[in-house]
Amino acid sequence: MYCPDTLKRINNEEVAKHRAKLNPTAAKCEYCGSLATKVIPVFNPADAVRGVEGAYCTIEICDDCYENSEHMNDGEYFNCTDCGELFIVNHSWDSLVCTIDDEQYCHKCAADHIEPKILSNICKDLADGKVGSWNRINTIPKKKKLWEGEFSSYSDFPGYTSTQKLSEAIQEAAAEASGEGEEWPDDLYPIISQNYQFSVVLAIYG
Ligand SMILES: [Zn+2]
Ligand SMILES: [Zn+2]
Repeated sequence: MYCPDTLKRINNEEVAKHRAKLNPTAAKCEYCGSLATKVIPVFNPADAVRGVEGAYCTIEICDDCYENSEHMNDGEYFNCTDCGELFIVNHSWDSLVCTIDDEQYCHKCAADHIEPKILSNICKDLADGKVGSWNRINTIPKKKKLWEGEFSSYSDFPGYTSTQKLSEAIQEAAAEASGEGEEWPDDLYPIISQNYQFSVVLAIYG
């Protein structure tokens, strides 16, 4: 059920808790080296929507460095505007933060802020090469996945390599669904559900 990465983070969290219990003064602040007084959990923005529990890692920090937000200086972490929890920005090359109207959200909170779009607008934007409205979020909770496709700008990629082709494929999928009596709803959510090194998985929920 858990991938090794998840197990590692759950383990890290438990080890940190256990260590703090055994000897609360043993941990050193990661930023100044003095005694750490807090262990802050850091989460993966995508975990809540994919049903993974537990923190991704923890930060051991002293009161002074915490007050000065030393842990926020290198851009590795962000606080979700809605839930206030601390999250990692990237997981290797994958940027996981969902930015909407200049606010940064975890995927669970982002789902409440993503504006639905109608099919014709999604397809027109794609045909015009505009992809700015596709948010990086693993899934839209409580909505159904209607379509999915993998896109890359590398011309030899076996999936979609042009936004025009994507636009056509989505229109075809919607027409096909309609033909089968499974009409897509008006409110559609175009998302980037996975971000790989050389490609992205795009999906439409509704
Ligand atoms: Zn410190
Ligand atoms: Zn949140």
